[in-house]
Amino acid sequence: MSKYAELCAYGRRGATLKSIASLLGWDQETYMPRGGGDARAEQMALMAGMMHERGTSRELGDLISACEGESLNDQQSACVREFRRDYDKRTKLPQSLVEELARTGSKAQDAWKDARKNNDFKAFAPWLTKMVDLSRQKAEAYGFKPGGELYDALLDEYEPNATAKEVEGVFTPLGEKLSALVKELKDSGDAPSDGPITIHAPEDRQHALGLHVLRAIGFDLNAGRLDITTHPFCEGLAPGDTRLTTRYDGKYFPGALYGTMHEAGHGMYEQGLPKGGTHDGPGGEAIPSFGTPLADDISLGIHESQSRMWENMVGRSRPFWSWIYKEACDQFAELGKFDQEEVYRAVNIVRPSYIRVEADEGTYNLHVMLRFGIERAMIAGDLSIADLPGAWNERFKKLLGLDVPDDTNGCLQDVHWSFGLFGYFPTYTLGNLYAAQFWQTINKELPGLESDFAKGDFGRLKTWLNENIHAHGRRYSAGELCEKVTGKPLASQPLMDYLGGKLREVYKL
Ligand code: ZN
Repeated sequence: MSKYAELCAYGRRGATLKSIASLLGWDQETYMPRGGGDARAEQMALMAGMMHERGTSRELGDLISACEGESLNDQQSACVREFRRDYDKRTKLPQSLVEELARTGSKAQDAWKDARKNNDFKAFAPWLTKMVDLSRQKAEAYGFKPGGELYDALLDEYEPNATAKEVEGVFTPLGEKLSALVKELKDSGDAPSDGPITIHAPEDRQHALGLHVLRAIGFDLNAGRLDITTHPFCEGLAPGDTRLTTRYDGKYFPGALYGTMHEAGHGMYEQGLPKGGTHDGPGGEAIPSFGTPLADDISLGIHESQSRMWENMVGRSRPFWSWIYKEACDQFAELGKFDQEEVYRAVNIVRPSYIRVEADEGTYNLHVMLRFGIERAMIAGDLSIADLPGAWNERFKKLLGLDVPDDTNGCLQDVHWSFGLFGYFPTYTLGNLYAAQFWQTINKELPGLESDFAKGDFGRLKTWLNENIHAHGRRYSAGELCEKVTGKPLASQPLMDYLGGKLREVYKL
């Protein structure tokens, strides 16, 4: 067996371990009885230890080095390059720092829960100070490219090869234009009514509608499931097994409908990755791709581009409602009081609010940009933790035009920073940006897509995504893939064109 085949086999066993750990995690969030908590924590810790040991072993390092000396084609080289990337990341952090981050992060998360409940920033501040400090140590251990900054090293964990400067270059013009658009919509005298989205919608009917949509858009239910949880997520467990979760609110059906479409977008990416296939080894032999970077997702930003495209560009479009309106009325009797156009407009309401996770398509990215600017300044040491609430409220007013009433509705609302997730937030907006830029190209390459959607036919879109995005695994970086697919580097204009075009029309401007 070639060293390359050995490396891929090593990766495959690691991926199998990871899929077992993921199954334990999925079960914990869906069906595990409460009493199983302690034993599950033990099981998860054991799995995490085994995976870490394998992922940082000398054996793996030697295999990668051996492959770096072999003559490989482009695909195989990309595979080895990404194995190296992961290995170096895992081995660069001292074990003591990894443990300290986990220990302090878990305590900081408890402190954050109380602080948010009691609107007590001062109680959380010392913990946040510790987490920022530990994250800076982590960034220093990772290192970053010349000319960059500490924050780059953290961003790189979620969006490989992206830098803060590049992100800023796209975010700044987007923020200005979006703020102006949101204000324009607010001043429109013809805002949609939220009547259609506040009707009574029984949970079992919502579930039936969700499954109907999943089947139509092409999520393979023979290779996946939809279950109920408190915090919805998608888990691409293994070849042929992708789990989606959702939650139901009987008075707000778009929550589950769009939540399910969002997770299905993630799920179809997982199903579209070549996990079940093989690729050529150096001797022409067929090597299973599962467990290699060739069958793995590129970045959180690209993952999110897939979920946001199905949720928003498809699900919040007029042709989608031409198709689903009748079925939705059959499921929810009260919806029939409103015509199709009223429902379409209602699911596109834009209304500035304090909480990111409840934000609409028009304001969501402004919430993300606020966090990006603030966490970047905290990591750089330009913003002291004591000044965080003031900085938050001032920027919030500027971006969203609202006065933040208290820290619970302000800088204390998200869990991320309490366990050291710095550099994660920007990937949400990067996802929207990639989605819009892909969307522009897709509509050029696939004319007439809207009339397909109006008939409930989403096959051409799914095939395009399979071939142009999913099939490559991690062969290209997110930035490279964007240029390869759209012919241009990532920019803010496609997202502004999409949002401005749709929302101005919805608000009759
Ligand atoms: Zn998502």
